[in-house]
Amino acid sequence: MPIRIYVDQGHSPVSNPGARANGLIEENVTFEIGMILAELLSYNPKFEVMTSRKTIDEIIGTDANSSLAYRVNQANDWPADLFVSLHCNYNENPLLNGSEVYVYRIPSDAEEVAHLILDALVEVVNMKDDLVRENPYFYVLRNTTMPANLVEMGYLTNAMDAEKLRMLPYCFALALYLGIVRYYQYQ
Ligand SMILES: [Zn+2]
Repeated sequence: MPIRIYVDQGHSPVSNPGARANGLIEENVTFEIGMILAELLSYNPKFEVMTSRKTIDEIIGTDANSSLAYRVNQANDWPADLFVSLHCNYNENPLLNGSEVYVYRIPSDAEEVAHLILDALVEVVNMKDDLVRENPYFYVLRNTTMPANLVEMGYLTNAMDAEKLRMLPYCFALALYLGIVRYYQYQ
């Protein structure tokens, strides 16, 4: 049976808008990279893939809470084997940069995936390694019934990270894909 990967493009217009900086809109960046990742996964017979958003203007839920609940319920009902939520970071300090991946608990299977994804982001896009971090409070990590990663791919507020997110969406998607493939090559 194919391994089921749920690709959650973080945020959605209106109900759950994300961060904005350097001319980038978080929900558009996560949508674009998520769709490329889903396409890469769909070419590999080992995987089955579902995305939380089907079109860039799809509105999920009526507010942030219902938007998150919809994604989690969809992944739990499927049920997915792995949940990957894509986000971009934001900080008042424009010098902060890098990728970080959140998991519900360390150590865990999710943590192993997270390290492989983070290593691939460093390898493919030369992102700064900003660590795998435990966070039991994020809704999508707390309520999913399968291993889950929340990937902060880079800082919209950092000029270099923003430039990479704008110019290299295929490379970010490839890094995420490689992390997932490498995790399952040993399963
Ligand atoms: Zn976000």
